Amino acid sequence: MHALMQDRQLLISTLIDHAALNHGEVEIVSRTCEGPTLRTNYQTLRQRSVKMAKALLRLGVRHGDRVGSLAWNTHRHMELYFAVPGMGAVLNTVNPRLYQEQIEYVINHAEAKVLFFDLTFADLIRALRPALTFTGTLVVMTDRAHKPAGLDDCLCYEDLIEAETDEFEWPLFEETQASSLCYTSGTTGNPKGVLYSHRSTLLHSFNTCSMDGLQLSCRDCVLLIVPLFHVNAWGLPYASAMCGAKVVLPGPWLDGPSLLPLLQQERCTFSIGVPTVWLGLLQFIEEHPQLLTGELALERVVIGGSAAPRALIERLHRLLGATSIQAWGMSETSPMGTIGNLLPKHLALSLDEQIDVRAKAGRPVYGVEVQVVDDLGRTLPRDGKSAGHLKVRGPWVASGYYKGDGGQVMDAGGWLQTGDVASIDEDGYLQITDRSKDVIKSGGEWISSIDLENAAIGHPAVQEAAVIGLPHSRWQERPLLVVVVKPGVDVQACDLLAFLSTQVAKWWLPDDVVFVDQLPHTATGKLQKARLREQFKDFVFTSERPQAAPQRSDVNATTNHG
Ligand code: ADP
Repeated sequence: MHALMQDRQLLISTLIDHAALNHGEVEIVSRTCEGPTLRTNYQTLRQRSVKMAKALLRLGVRHGDRVGSLAWNTHRHMELYFAVPGMGAVLNTVNPRLYQEQIEYVINHAEAKVLFFDLTFADLIRALRPALTFTGTLVVMTDRAHKPAGLDDCLCYEDLIEAETDEFEWPLFEETQASSLCYTSGTTGNPKGVLYSHRSTLLHSFNTCSMDGLQLSCRDCVLLIVPLFHVNAWGLPYASAMCGAKVVLPGPWLDGPSLLPLLQQERCTFSIGVPTVWLGLLQFIEEHPQLLTGELALERVVIGGSAAPRALIERLHRLLGATSIQAWGMSETSPMGTIGNLLPKHLALSLDEQIDVRAKAGRPVYGVEVQVVDDLGRTLPRDGKSAGHLKVRGPWVASGYYKGDGGQVMDAGGWLQTGDVASIDEDGYLQITDRSKDVIKSGGEWISSIDLENAAIGHPAVQEAAVIGLPHSRWQERPLLVVVVKPGVDVQACDLLAFLSTQVAKWWLPDDVVFVDQLPHTATGKLQKARLREQFKDFVFTSERPQAAPQRSDVNATTNHG
């Protein structure tokens, strides 16, 4: 029997209509590429999104066409988040931090009709053009006064807006239609496109606004640090419109000196980003404690994209007074998969014990199912110890990649392999051991590079740490710890190993420690383990070197501390 409920479709246009009507005066504050900070609100955001939707129609964009963006977190980019899917097209946010060949690949693969770009990417566009098969319209996201020379055939964002009125009815269509297209960062092979729907986006937003999700509400002011080009800024623009939260957009500047004043001046209560960004902000605050005047309003910080070290959670609490919520997910899961909130039984625990819980990768909220299986596909027990291959399924989990890349990705049960190795404990909390390609296989057992990194970063001298597995004649692989030391601090390898020996099993201890000035990061700010493995491919562990042979010069070259 068919139900008698209204068949209203879950469309992204309904989010901005709702926000404009019910939270119209709520501010959207944006740093702009031109310099000044701009204050707008949901009502104006809707008006301008409508005008942009009409402009896109005039430019020939039709239902299902792709519209690309190469842009930072600004009000204009957020307008595209509503204008493009609202009129039925698909927003492809291109990550400008990818290698140039990957950017070319993504733009060519997505076949956009219109490509928007920020002023800061004018040179990049000039460099890319010879290799682009793109024949559509280029739009520079500024006004005529700021349009750079030499881009005569590009249109201006503000000209397009000015030419339109705001009378418009958003088109109605099925919620299962595509709304946006984000490419994975392609650590192996070419980037693959994850194609989200209006329905998956709205269901994901409901989750973000739920109490056991990210608890986002109209009482929040969001400092949106995670880029709009990284998995739809983890869905925050849409969830913020759903609940009417104030949004602060930092533009191209994601460093400590730029973020701290925004946190302070805008009284942000909520923020979200990868661990590297938080580490940068905390380091800046520790170096300039005099700038931390008055109490911050910050209540919740969401950390995701890679494991949140316990020490980071502690520092966020101590320095910023913020509670950390760790989330696990991937482009393929929109990205929220599991979210680290406390259960009732944890409320009576000490702060330290609560931080232990928060250091796990979170538990599934309704909508995402997770399962851990062994090499033969058998489900492993939820005992917090049995680590295996992590699988996910749910209505905001990908069923395949754009244009069929990567072939069939779901198994017979509708599960997607995540490529992560994880365990699940009795309470359902997930612990990510590693990405399967990063886990260190030592004598038939697994060593978690993530656990070692998190332990190392707990040492007061360590700014950043990475662990990779390198070949070993007896154990197959052994861990190498690569460390960036905080400025002006001196520490020896033996100090770090002694510290680690109090944190992890003896057989997990890295065989060597190397000090470097910086570690390679991916386009989304994560440790780039593949590059690090390449960098150290000729490294020979001290224990493996012939006794009489002199020390290798490349080892000494990287040993600039300790
Ligand atoms: P990429 O890093 O390739 O751009 P994603 O952003 O989709 O792609 O990254 C997803 C991966 O990030 C996950 O498969 C997992 O390995 C890692 N990750 C995300 N969140 C966490 C977390 N809280 N703890 C550990 N690893 C995480």
